[in-house]
Amino acid sequence: MRWMKENKGTKEAEIIVAVPNVWLRLPIVDLLFLMRKGYIHVKSMTELYERVKKKSGGILIIDIFAYKESCPDTIARLKTENPTLAIVLLLSRDESVYAHYSESIDACFIVEKEKADKMLLPALHQALQKQQMLLNEKEVNLMGKEDGNILRRNFGRRTFLKGTAAAAAMAGAVAASPGSTVLQALAAGDDAQTTSLEEQIFAGACPACCLGGCSLNVHVRNGKIVKTSKRDFPDKKWNRICGKGLSHAQRTYEERRLKYPMRRVGERGEGKWEQLSWDEAIRYICEKWKGYQQEFGNSSIAYSFGGGNSTVCVNNYYKRLFNWMGGTFLFHMFDMAAVDSGGRSFGYGPWFFGNAIPDIINAKYIFMWGTNPTSSYKQNWHFVQEAVENGSKLIVIDPNYTTTASKGTQFVPIRMATDAALAMAMINIVVKEGLTDKEFIAQNTVGPFLVKESDGLYLRQSDLGGAANAENNAIVVRGADGKVGLPSEILNPVINGTFEINGVKVTTAYDLLLERTAEWTPEKASELCDIPVETIYELARMFAAGPTTIYTSNGIDHTGNGAPAYMAMYALAMITGQVAKPGAGLNGDESMALGTIFDCSSIIYPPGKVPGPVVPSLKLLDVLNEGKIGDTPLTLKSLYLSTSNFLRAQSERKAGIEAFKKLDLVVIADQYMSDTAKYADIVLPVCGYFEYESVLTMFNPFAKMTEKAIDPLYESKPDLEIINLLGKGMGLGDEFVVTRDEFYTKLMDNDACKAVGISWENLKKEKTMRYMPDDYIHGAYARSGGGAAFMTGAEAHSGNGSFPTATGRAQFYQEAFKPYLDYGQKIDQKKESLPYWEPPIEAWQDNPLSSKYPLIFATERSRLKANTGFTHVQWLLEIMPEPFAKINPQDAAARGIVQGDTIKVINDRGHMVLKAFVTAAVRPGMIVLNHGFEHDQFIDGDEGDLTSRAFNPAVPNNAYYDVLCEVKKM
Ligand code: SF4
Repeated sequence: MRWMKENKGTKEAEIIVAVPNVWLRLPIVDLLFLMRKGYIHVKSMTELYERVKKKSGGILIIDIFAYKESCPDTIARLKTENPTLAIVLLLSRDESVYAHYSESIDACFIVEKEKADKMLLPALHQALQKQQMLLNEKEVNLMGKEDGNILRRNFGRRTFLKGTAAAAAMAGAVAASPGSTVLQALAAGDDAQTTSLEEQIFAGACPACCLGGCSLNVHVRNGKIVKTSKRDFPDKKWNRICGKGLSHAQRTYEERRLKYPMRRVGERGEGKWEQLSWDEAIRYICEKWKGYQQEFGNSSIAYSFGGGNSTVCVNNYYKRLFNWMGGTFLFHMFDMAAVDSGGRSFGYGPWFFGNAIPDIINAKYIFMWGTNPTSSYKQNWHFVQEAVENGSKLIVIDPNYTTTASKGTQFVPIRMATDAALAMAMINIVVKEGLTDKEFIAQNTVGPFLVKESDGLYLRQSDLGGAANAENNAIVVRGADGKVGLPSEILNPVINGTFEINGVKVTTAYDLLLERTAEWTPEKASELCDIPVETIYELARMFAAGPTTIYTSNGIDHTGNGAPAYMAMYALAMITGQVAKPGAGLNGDESMALGTIFDCSSIIYPPGKVPGPVVPSLKLLDVLNEGKIGDTPLTLKSLYLSTSNFLRAQSERKAGIEAFKKLDLVVIADQYMSDTAKYADIVLPVCGYFEYESVLTMFNPFAKMTEKAIDPLYESKPDLEIINLLGKGMGLGDEFVVTRDEFYTKLMDNDACKAVGISWENLKKEKTMRYMPDDYIHGAYARSGGGAAFMTGAEAHSGNGSFPTATGRAQFYQEAFKPYLDYGQKIDQKKESLPYWEPPIEAWQDNPLSSKYPLIFATERSRLKANTGFTHVQWLLEIMPEPFAKINPQDAAARGIVQGDTIKVINDRGHMVLKAFVTAAVRPGMIVLNHGFEHDQFIDGDEGDLTSRAFNPAVPNNAYYDVLCEVKKM
């Protein structure tokens, strides 16, 4: 056995895949992945020859006719130099007449390409056996007589399977290919039993930032995750998995995993580290923090977190720690135009602002507006596809021809960042053609509320006489007969008109909306949006006919003028009554289940502790430079980031790096050496999500237990333990010695959980438990009294039919607009009270900068990544190995760029060098990057160096697409 260990490397046959066609290669790679077999993909005959010529043995899987004439010769030469090379030949049925090649090149097996997924397995089995026999012959000759006898005595089919990597390979293969010859071979005797007994399956859930929340089976053999597979939900219509979900085994064991705590010893980003013990790391951080607290105050320690590894629940425990310490929260400004406008308009419900996604089947028209769920949100796409198959019309409004657009009934290519104008023109059409729903406006929206000319506030009881106080503060409406009173008293309030009531001049909120939108005639919008006038009419009529669902997400969000665009789209839905009924309302990312059943407030806000200030992430450098936020002095010394790739997630990467340089101590707790971790002072290794018990609550209506499938790798620790260590290190005593069982028991000890039978104990038994219904209709199921707070699952069932907003109604008018984050910035309240269109901050044709940088730079979601999650997973890189920018043929030709050229995208902030993908699917005037690669994957430069940290002060949001650039051929 000693010999076996020492020579372990020689027993593994190298597998080389020479299959240039990606679609043929995929099932092969998939199979090898399931078999836990490493492989080398060679791109040319030259590369193949160089790799194999000096070696002994190995298995070559080759699509022989993909390489034309040179292939047989090369292989013949290779066989001369490496006679033990086992060859698996791929031939299509049409090419079978050439099967004689198999003899000339001594192929051990021929696999029909069309049946590669079934035939490759026995072929590989045969090739592995052949290799093994050859290796063992060699081994026996090398070994001494005694060892040889031992080997001879024990060697047999079972030893072969158990003693080599092939054992795991075949065990995986059996599961993957029932009915194969290998399965039949193993079925006899006890081998099959032994191999299947070795596998354990744990419940898991995919925490990827794609927001799908798919349930997973995590397969473990000999303490190692070997694959992840789809796990059934109690309701199978939610069953999903994608390439990312299938690749967690590779992701778990990625080379970039952080193995132990480390401290920077070189320059920031230089990659020089020293290893620390956990004790040393925690002591170092806490001593520094205590010093900053003494000298600069509690708020000098900032924190933030991303979605990399943490579940929502554990992030709340981080919030508790820093709220206890009085630290500053660095507010990550992602997707806030979408979130804030939805919340203002419809209130936050259990499915965000929308109906449950399964309700989309009831929509006659689906307005897919500025989003591409075939790549970005695959969990949802299935529901959309079903609706289309059921007869729904899918209208895709997008600047670019996406995969989703290709599935649409109608594609409307709109000029980027003009959506508000289109929606306002549609409002004008439905009003002019009498297609509005006056009853809905009067009873369910703020339309009949009377807005005072003097201050923009609603007319209230107190304006009619008496003191202004809470009891006298209710909003009043006016009847057609001039009577003014509470909405419960005036059953048919007017929605149009300007009046003088009790000496106060007022106008209905609905009239103010019409006044604001009036300038956007179909003709004017047509010119701005680059959409024919007739199309705008057609869209407006379809929309009003309904039932219409607006399916939107974050495409519109990524320019500085995104928020008022959503407000315009939502106003259109409100005045046509396309809300709060089956098939009508919002959907998409705007209807993801929020997991609100867990009451985290007692965890987040420790009684008696006052949370520290909040700083918008894009203001970090300004705060460090100026020592204040707004007019409030603030000195920041340290930043703690939990599983956040901050430097990639925020615009203007260089500004982020500069900010890090100004901080004394940057600590990153993460699974991987990400682009951000590279710039930290201390890195703490967090274990992967299959290495501890947890719960994933968001993204679909189920609480999903994720079991501990394997022990934490290396010296990594779960977030909860790290927080406990930091809490203890900061002297916070018993507050931070919470066990996992205590944490989750507390989280689920509330009425909402009890109402649906969820407890930590039950969840451990059941693994997946539903907490939300599939038939939730936002605005029709809501709690009494309104209120902007999140509803719990139990409240969602109460069904009293109002919106969870401050007024209990759908709000196209914002009374006394306050920004989501108020840090003393100047806001034009009147402007923000209603929808409007204004150009984006930078990315607009009239911007003088466009003469130098005439193209708009935007990004699109990749189906193989979830932001920067999965960036270095080899299996996925096989499909998309490097960044590329899509460019329209017109723009490419004007710059002499052809398919596959290396190009440089530049602006005054920076550049990136990458490959060009010339396609008419991209609108002229735009460059579109497949988002999610990290710095080392660009040929040079970085996507994040082109973006700008300028943002609309009314909404704390990264405007990722609000960027001008120029492109040059390299
Ligand atoms: S990445 Fe998204 S769609 Fe894919 S398995 Fe994970 S949650 Fe599901």
